[in-house]
Amino acid sequence: MAEEPKETKPGFQNPVAGFGVTFKAMFKKRLTEQYPEQKKTTAPRFHGRHQLNRHPDGLEKCVGCELCAWACPADAIYVEGADNTDEERYSPGERYGRVYQINYARCILCGLCIEACPTRALTMTNEFELADSSRANLIYTKEQLLAGLEEGMVDSPHSIFPGTDEQDYYRGLVTEAAPGTVRQVAVSKGEKPEDQDQGVDA
Ligand code: SF4
Ligand code: SF4
Repeated sequence: MAEEPKETKPGFQNPVAGFGVTFKAMFKKRLTEQYPEQKKTTAPRFHGRHQLNRHPDGLEKCVGCELCAWACPADAIYVEGADNTDEERYSPGERYGRVYQINYARCILCGLCIEACPTRALTMTNEFELADSSRANLIYTKEQLLAGLEEGMVDSPHSIFPGTDEQDYYRGLVTEAAPGTVRQVAVSKGEKPEDQDQGVDA
C-alpha cells in the first residue's frame, strides 16, 4: 500500500522558521572563547608545563636520580646525573641533575613523573601554552625548566649553607642563602672564570 504523503509547511514559511532559529540563538549565552586575547583560568591543580624547584637558598632540589624518567610512560624525560664538588655545587647532597630535558612532543601531561620524584624537585605549573612549530623547540632544557630566583636565593652553583647538611635542607632548616654566598664558576658547563666576572649566565 502506498504511504500517505507527509504534511509540509507552505514553501514561504521555511525561511521564516530558519530566521526564528537564528533570532533565538542571538539571545543565548555565548560559548565561544576569545582565546588568545582572553585566557581561561585553569583549575588550581591543572597539569601544565613542569618546573624544577630550588631550595630557599637557590640550590637545586633535583638529585639526578632518574626516577621521573623511569616513571614516564611516554619516554619524554632525559636525565643525566653528576657529582657535586665543593668548588661546583648545584644541590646540597652528593648528586645533581647535570642534564635534564622534557620532550613536550611526547609528554601527555599525566603527572606520573612528579609522583615519582622523591625530593619534590619536579612539579607542574598551570602554564599550558606549549605549542610550537618546531619539534626541536619542544624539547625543554634544564635551564628552561629551572625555577626562577626568589628573594634570598643565589643562583647555583654555590656552597651549602655553613654548618648544615642535606638532611637540614629537607627538614626546612635552611630558609635563605647564607650572608656572603656567591655563585661559583660552572666549569663543567664550559663557563670560564672571566665569563662570570662579566655577569654571563651559564
Ligand atoms: S607528565 Fe607524564 S608523560 Fe609527561 S613527562 Fe611526566 S610522566 Fe612523562
Ligand atoms: S626531578 Fe626528581 S625524580 Fe627526576 S631526577 Fe630529579 S630528583 Fe630524581
